[in-house]
Amino acid sequence: MSLKEIGKKILESNKIGITFHVSPDGDAMGSALALLNGLRYLNKDAYIISKDIIGENLEFLPLGKEVDGTIKCPEEDTDLVVSLDCGNFERVSADLSSYKGSLINVDHHISNEQYGNLNYVDTNAASTGEIVFELIKVLGIKFNDKTEISKKIGTCIYTTLVTDTGSFRHSNVTERTHRIASELIAVGVNNTNIYKNIFDNRAMKKLNLMGYAFENAKLFLNGKVIVVGLSEEILKKYDCEQEDTSDIIGNLLSVKDVEVAVLLKETSEGTKASLRSKNDFDVREVAEAFGGGGHIKASGVMQKGVFLEDAKNNILNKIESELKEWKA
Ligand code: 5GP
Ligand code: MN
Repeated sequence: MSLKEIGKKILESNKIGITFHVSPDGDAMGSALALLNGLRYLNKDAYIISKDIIGENLEFLPLGKEVDGTIKCPEEDTDLVVSLDCGNFERVSADLSSYKGSLINVDHHISNEQYGNLNYVDTNAASTGEIVFELIKVLGIKFNDKTEISKKIGTCIYTTLVTDTGSFRHSNVTERTHRIASELIAVGVNNTNIYKNIFDNRAMKKLNLMGYAFENAKLFLNGKVIVVGLSEEILKKYDCEQEDTSDIIGNLLSVKDVEVAVLLKETSEGTKASLRSKNDFDVREVAEAFGGGGHIKASGVMQKGVFLEDAKNNILNKIESELKEWKA
């Protein structure tokens, strides 16, 4: 499927719902809001479908307040739903069970299940936003002036680049990533302002939770694996049950000789694990063993009905056997 065909389908549609993966991150939000701003500019009837509410540090994104968790399934007469940055149908932040219209799936996950009627998956894209940037051009929106719409869409796309590349430092960054960033700066996107909103916007309680996490981090498997477990009790104590913890795990990889970082968060449902890899150890395989997924260097899985200690042991055992094969 080409982007041209995807663009044609979008332009032919009358009422378009835009959605993304559950617990949306900067790429999910930035991609969706870039497309929403673009479609509104083209006078299309477009809106966000989401069970989730936008994170506080992403609320600055143009039209970000429309991700308020009120529209959870397609509205009447919707003829197209576009799902962004989501590899599996079960992880879409929308209830599509009685939806009969078309579904477009635009994503960059290797594990994408091609669940749309039209699918466009580019695993070389550092963020889904990279693809949406090209798509918006295909829709006929020009990016060569410092216009309001260029800045709005550009701010959303730049956010996807920053958040999915660890601020341009991961190995998913390509020449194209920097070329797009360059085009966005040229139309007046304020990179400093974006960084301030995303990273220098932390609640004090979150800083305290980070203190707890770093104090209680433990090394396993000859110092190759670092693990932090946040029990339901601790998350309650710090009043951080809903806080995004992706910045904690990013810091765990900074420890010398560590190859894999694991952050476990316990909820009443079970335990969510986030995994990150420093080099080429494949954490997606570890997550997939328990029904999760993601990328080689960043993956996640929810172990339903499994609590902290057992969830930790499951993950560590799987990493141990994978480590034996890795570079063996
Ligand atoms: P995070 O640890 O930030 O939640 O997720 C890291 C990566 O793993 C993301 O690319 C996300 O799409 C993927 N991921 C996280 N949780 C799950 C999950 O429960 N299932 C699947 N299939 N992928 C997940
Ligand atoms: Mn992404």
